Amino acid sequence: MEIEQAIVFCDKLIKHYKNKKIVIEFTGGETTMWKDLITLCKYLHTSGVAVSLISNGSRTTTWWQKILPYLSRVNLSFHPEHADPEHFLSIIHTLHQSVQTHVNVMMLPDQFDKCIEFTHQIVQNCFVTISTQPLLYNLNGSIFPYTEAQLKILNGDEFKSLVSTNIQHEYYRGEMTKEFADGRRENYSCTHFLSSFENNWRGWNCTAGLEQLVVTSKGEIFRGWCMNGGMIGTISDPEINFPNTTVFCNNTRCNCNFDILCTKYK
Ligand code: SF4
Repeated sequence: MEIEQAIVFCDKLIKHYKNKKIVIEFTGGETTMWKDLITLCKYLHTSGVAVSLISNGSRTTTWWQKILPYLSRVNLSFHPEHADPEHFLSIIHTLHQSVQTHVNVMMLPDQFDKCIEFTHQIVQNCFVTISTQPLLYNLNGSIFPYTEAQLKILNGDEFKSLVSTNIQHEYYRGEMTKEFADGRRENYSCTHFLSSFENNWRGWNCTAGLEQLVVTSKGEIFRGWCMNGGMIGTISDPEINFPNTTVFCNNTRCNCNFDILCTKYK
């Protein structure tokens, strides 16, 4: 994608949603490898848009220092099979005092203990929020066959919503409330919906398309990563019909954290 094309689309988005707080989150692949990312983040920041990045944290601390002034939030994913824990911690230390930083520890079943140990190390040394992320092994939305003991840890209270920060940030998304038929309400995280297999909202009304939009690497626009409701258009369309109604969910699994986070109701 060319940066000029991205800027034209972002301008349309900013104009359409001018009365709302806009957050643009870049996710990949590894978007930090895109040569124009810092320039685009600077443009969006100057235009009043909050910028969020999802990254594996593999770039150097010098690179992160350059982009830092334009970011509102960073979601770092720790992949135990590839990442260097020491480098990963140095990136958290570069970010955590200046920008809202969240860490997803990708809980590979055969490296589960290493992941738990690293999670504790982060909690003790960094000002971040953390999720121990159960992993999907196929596109049907099935999670890895974790042992009973591992599932107990993933569903237990210790890792429900780990927060090791007392720094006050403005939170755009992430706080979720589960409302029961009897009126009770409970705070819940998306990882909990996944690990307890409660991520099925088939037949519900979903605000994907109102609270969120997805743009693929080909420039196609959808309501969410589930692609429910079909393609809305492309970023190069002269006119884009941004949705103004909810969508009826006909999927049996809502698999992506981004999609899980939007409001759904019956
Ligand atoms: S799969 Fe998730 S995001 Fe997509 S329509 Fe259903 S509830 Fe909404």
